[in-house]
Amino acid sequence: MNFFSHLECGYCAKTYEADKLWNLCTECSKPLLARYDLLSAKEKLSKDELKNREPNLWRYNELLPVRDKKFILSLGEGFSPLFKAARLGKELGFSNLYIKDEGLNPTTSFKARGLSVAISRAYELGVKEVSIPSAGNAAGAMSAYAALAGMKSYVFMPKDVPSPFISECKALGAEVTLIDGLITDCGKAAAEGVKKYGRFDISTLKEPYRIEGKKTMGYELAEQFDWNLPDVIIYPTGGGTGLIGMWKAFDEMEQLGWIDSKRPRMVTVQSTGCAPIVKAFEDNTEFAELWNDAHTIADGLRVPAAVGDFLMLRSLRESNGIAIAVSDEKMLDSANLIGRTQGIFTSPEGGATLAAFLKLREIKWIKETETVVLFNTGSGHKYSHLWESD
Ligand SMILES: *Cc1c(COP(=O)(O)O)cnc(C)c1O
Repeated sequence: MNFFSHLECGYCAKTYEADKLWNLCTECSKPLLARYDLLSAKEKLSKDELKNREPNLWRYNELLPVRDKKFILSLGEGFSPLFKAARLGKELGFSNLYIKDEGLNPTTSFKARGLSVAISRAYELGVKEVSIPSAGNAAGAMSAYAALAGMKSYVFMPKDVPSPFISECKALGAEVTLIDGLITDCGKAAAEGVKKYGRFDISTLKEPYRIEGKKTMGYELAEQFDWNLPDVIIYPTGGGTGLIGMWKAFDEMEQLGWIDSKRPRMVTVQSTGCAPIVKAFEDNTEFAELWNDAHTIADGLRVPAAVGDFLMLRSLRESNGIAIAVSDEKMLDSANLIGRTQGIFTSPEGGATLAAFLKLREIKWIKETETVVLFNTGSGHKYSHLWESD
C-alpha cells in the first residue's frame, strides 16, 4: 500500500506525474511537493497500526514516495528520541521543555532523513549518479545512502568547511570538490556537472523528496506526544526543509484524522551572521533577499538564499510563529548549557534553539504553561574544533 499520487508546485500549483524524475517546477522554478491520496489513506491506514513497527522513519512508508519497499535504503534513520529536558528545565524554571535529538541519526544529523528518502526514490527511478552542493551534513548523508545504492556521488562543499565533513564524504566513497565560496557558489559548480554529465541534482528543495524524509519529524512528534502537538517548535533554519516538511506533515495528519486543527507556533532560528529569513519575516515580504557576507559557525545555517523561502515564511505566518537571530557566541553558550545539564553534545545549530528559547522567554512570547520542543538537528562531533580553544 502506498498513497503517493502526484507532485504539485508549491507556488503555482501546476501538477506533475509521480513516477518520473523531476527537479523544480518547469513553469516557475519553484519547489515541487509530493501529494498523496489522503482520502483512501484515511480509510485504509490507522494510526494504531504504527505502534508495532520498526523505530525508523519508514514506519510511515505508505505516506512516503517510494512505491516498492525493495528500493528502501535504510541505515536506521528517524524515530529519534524525544527527551524531557528536566534538569535544564529546572535550571531555567520552565517545566515543559523537550529536546528532540536528531544527532543520533546515521551520519549524526537529521540530514539522514531527507537523503534516505531522496536517494531511495532516485534509486527506484533508475538514477545512477547523484550530485549535491552542501554546507556539510547533507553531503555526508547523501554519500552514505548513495553508497548503499551503489550509486556514484559527487559532493561540492565550501573549502572552509570543518575537516570531519570532508573526511566523512571521502570515507563513504564520494568524489569531493571544494569550492572557494559559499553554498550558493557550490550550487553553481554542481549545476555544471548536472548539465554536462546528466547527474541527478539532490540540492535542497530542487529535488522533491528530501522534504518528505524531513516531514517524518512532524509525524514522530505527534506519535511521541500521543497525537497532541506541542505549543511551540524551535527549529534552526537553513534551507528550511525541516520547517516546511513538518508543517506539511501536520496538514496531512489532520486530513488523515490523526490530529485536530491545533498547530504549534513555529520558530525559525538563524545566526545574526546569516539571517535572510528573519529579515524577510520582519519586513513582511513574500520572498527573502540574498544575504551578503554570510558567516556563522553553524555550517547548516550558512545559507544566504533558499529556493523555499516563501514556503518557510508562509508556515511561520500561518502558525503565528516568529523568526529570530542569535549570535554565534550565544549558540555555543547554550550548547554548553544543554551539554552540562542533559548530557547531549549538540551542534551549534542545536545550541541556537536554546538561545532562541531564552530570548523568547525574556520577551514573554513563550508562557510558563506551554510545551516547547527544541530540535537538536545534529551532533557536536563534527564541530569539535569549536571547543578546541578552551
Ligand atoms: C542542514 C542543517 C540545518 C538546517 O536545516 P534545514 O532543514 O535545511 O533548514 C540545521 N542544523 C543542522 C545540523 C544542519 O545540518
